[in-house]
Amino acid sequence: MAKRVGEMSGGKFNIRVFAGGEIVPGLQVMDSVANATVELGHTAPYYYVGKDPTWAFGTAVPFGLNFRQYNAWWIFGGGEQVFNEFTQGLGVVSLLAGNTGAQMGGWFRKEIKSTADLAGVKMRIGGWGGTVFAKLGIVPTQIAGGEIYQALERGTIDAAEWVGPYDDEKLGFHKVAKFYYYPGWWEGGPALHTQVNKKAWDSLPKEYQAMLTAASYEANAWMMAKYDAGNAAALKRLIAAGVQLRGYPREVMDAAFKAANALYAETAAKNAAFKKVHDSYMAFRNDSASWLRVTENTFDDFVAAAIRR
Ligand code: CA
Repeated sequence: MAKRVGEMSGGKFNIRVFAGGEIVPGLQVMDSVANATVELGHTAPYYYVGKDPTWAFGTAVPFGLNFRQYNAWWIFGGGEQVFNEFTQGLGVVSLLAGNTGAQMGGWFRKEIKSTADLAGVKMRIGGWGGTVFAKLGIVPTQIAGGEIYQALERGTIDAAEWVGPYDDEKLGFHKVAKFYYYPGWWEGGPALHTQVNKKAWDSLPKEYQAMLTAASYEANAWMMAKYDAGNAAALKRLIAAGVQLRGYPREVMDAAFKAANALYAETAAKNAAFKKVHDSYMAFRNDSASWLRVTENTFDDFVAAAIRR
């Protein structure tokens, strides 16, 4: 039985609003919005890459945009238009509505000092991160969040990625795997979207479309602020509990970057929608990364180092 948890109504229209997971399974939000089982959903669009890899650009791809870059691409870089051209063709209007910021690179029971150390390591990692990591020797497995701890504890898997300190601490991974790697190069700034059934969207007055877009942007800013505050505090507690922070070796990062680019070229060659969004997204990334490294990154790096001296 559908549980109505909210409603926007006025004048000639009435749009039903349901909380994710209340009436449709978490991985069926997009289909349910497209076919109007629900008119509005909140989801990570990359869950639907099995249907079309173009969905990945709604959330994250390996070595893609960070939070700041995603917002800039979406709002001023043509991202909103090019991604909506793809999703609206499938009956879904996409609004920007959340981000976790750069995720961590996962928990390992043994230290990774080179690409050779990745061979045969069974890791809980899904999506394209897993596809790319497999080219480097990792054996990717998909396990639901609630089952990761036990799998790590029993040694069914050797490593697992989830989100970042704030979420990972709650699941207790530090009690069963000591080495905590960064960065999560497959999720440098994963976005979430509000998805609206196209017909329902078109039936809304312009003011209500603007309100829903603004509310989604508010969620976008609020979620990032909450993670930025929560992650800092959680990381301190994890380090105090004995967690060993490690950066992925440069050799591993370089090999993953190369494998990711090969995957994009291969996919773009057979999928025109993917190529169109990819080209817009990556051109924006390249210009933006060249700008941010000049002053934003040097400022951040200086302050982070100076406070330790
Ligand atoms: Ca993740």
